[in-house]
Amino acid sequence: MQLLRLELKGFKSFADKTIVKFSPGMTAIVGPNGSGKSNITDAMRWVLGESNVRQLRGQKAEDIIFAGTEKRRPMSTAEVTLVFDNSDKRLHPDLAEVALTRRIYRSGESEFYINKKACRLKDIQALLADTGLGRDSMAIIGQNRVDAILNSKPEERRLIFEEVAGIARFKMNKEESLRRMGQTDRNMERVADLMANLE
Ligand code: ATP
Repeated sequence: MQLLRLELKGFKSFADKTIVKFSPGMTAIVGPNGSGKSNITDAMRWVLGESNVRQLRGQKAEDIIFAGTEKRRPMSTAEVTLVFDNSDKRLHPDLAEVALTRRIYRSGESEFYINKKACRLKDIQALLADTGLGRDSMAIIGQNRVDAILNSKPEERRLIFEEVAGIARFKMNKEESLRRMGQTDRNMERVADLMANLE
């Protein structure tokens, strides 16, 4: 699964349609402070399903839409498309390329597309589950996250390693199973009480 390109229009500082192409191997994006490097990773996180605008360094949803400059009017929508080569069929069994698109309007209304076909955020999350690209994955680590990891307590750091190692999902499943077992125990006690009353 290879990242092919990122297309942005109206997203933060990218007012005009901008296409970032990724070749196989490593890609470095360099530029002066404030030129929009982190906005590129914010765009990726957003299209991959990030719903908390604070994680994208904004306060409210419309902060991710181009806000205008002295010479240019603000835009009414932001749109980002992330295209993957899917020749290994990891994301979808039938598609050669997978293009995820997310659009937001100033009204706060959002739209999602998989290969230009309208879908729900849930469908994108389901597509990405277990690929290492899900919303809570460590595929994208922002500057603030690096500081948080370095300053975290050992217990908090362990949680991060558990997430990366894929253990967190099993822990969640275990907690859910224990909750259900507890519920079943309580139901069994109730049945035993009812039976005792009937005897
Ligand atoms: P640094 O190297 O300092 O980390 P950077 O290259 O990562 O900087 P970003 O943080 O990606 O830069 O971009 C910040 C720029 O994006 C600022 O100039 C800011 O004004 C602009 N910006 C952020 N949101 C919007 C928006 N909604 N509309 C227009 N411009 C925006």
